[in-house]
Amino acid sequence: MAVLVTGGAGYIGSHTAAALLERGEEIVVIDNLQQGHREALLGGKLYVGDLRDAEFMDTVFKENKIDAVIHFAANSLVGESMKLPGKYYHNNVYGTLCLLEKMNEHGVGKIVFSSTAATYGEPENIPIDEYDRTLPTNAYGETKLAMEKMMKWFDVAHGIKYISLRYFNAAGAHASGRIGEDHDPETHLVPIVLETALGKRPHISIFGDDYDTADGTCIRDYIHVSDLADAHVLAVDRLRTGADSAIYNLGNGQGFSVKEVIEIAREVTGKEIPAVVEPRRAGDPAVLVASSERARKELGWNPSRNKLEDIIKSAWAWHVAHPNGYED
Ligand code: UDP
Repeated sequence: MAVLVTGGAGYIGSHTAAALLERGEEIVVIDNLQQGHREALLGGKLYVGDLRDAEFMDTVFKENKIDAVIHFAANSLVGESMKLPGKYYHNNVYGTLCLLEKMNEHGVGKIVFSSTAATYGEPENIPIDEYDRTLPTNAYGETKLAMEKMMKWFDVAHGIKYISLRYFNAAGAHASGRIGEDHDPETHLVPIVLETALGKRPHISIFGDDYDTADGTCIRDYIHVSDLADAHVLAVDRLRTGADSAIYNLGNGQGFSVKEVIEIAREVTGKEIPAVVEPRRAGDPAVLVASSERARKELGWNPSRNKLEDIIKSAWAWHVAHPNGYED
């Protein structure tokens, strides 16, 4: 049986596809290559197309024996979602509806979902646990929450079991150096800081230094992309044992401010990395730090690459080897 990975040519999707291949799984990937890169796939069968295309989806399900889906395909930029919420509802929410309907039609009853800490919004408690209130502060997080809720009702009605993985801030690159982070446009802190270190940008903009945090900049929980990938594989294993649907946070449990990330990147790269303070970015909560106790206990997840310095080192190795991303 194969695992279908939607969005498997994207950043976290391709690292998860690699982790599945490394343990000998058969994989089928769907990607519309809007954000994904063909070169990011180290194996498996790629179908280029869109979840919202019913005929295309029927072909994928008919041509392969799929027992589980890992669903990454979505738009994921907080800032863009505040300007173009319709795009997010169409691709993320409607795309997931199309996928779940096709899974139901073709008798596929397991899905692991790429969710986000943005479902919580401004947290009530730090670290955040899975029972905390979900009140997204941006349209992106709202669509991911809507997708999770849709899965719940497809479970109730059709028995499709889901594991939703709410991640905090993915960073870093695969140990092989063959795959890494390459978004266009790039909006994430770590790659932008490293592009600045490479001299591709004049400076890094710090979006707000008047938050209620020690140094005034936002605090996030950075987790290595390969540790995230491992959690998806463990989640597939768990669903294959017949486990019930569940939601898990994935993070390191430790927060770093934007200024701290820049400082660690200066140490790792030995470059100056000029920084300029600018206004806040719409939709950003001040602090997002995870409690991943539940994932550790129930999935047996044991993130092993959790030092921020090492995460940034692996990302830096990718950036130095691929200064223009997958074009090199
Ligand atoms: N950030 C920043 N400058 C940038 C990009 C991001 O100051 O050029 C900040 C952003 O406001 C947030 C943190 O860095 O507080 C992490 O942002 P990112 O976009 O990497 O991830 P998000 O937390 O939105 O998922």
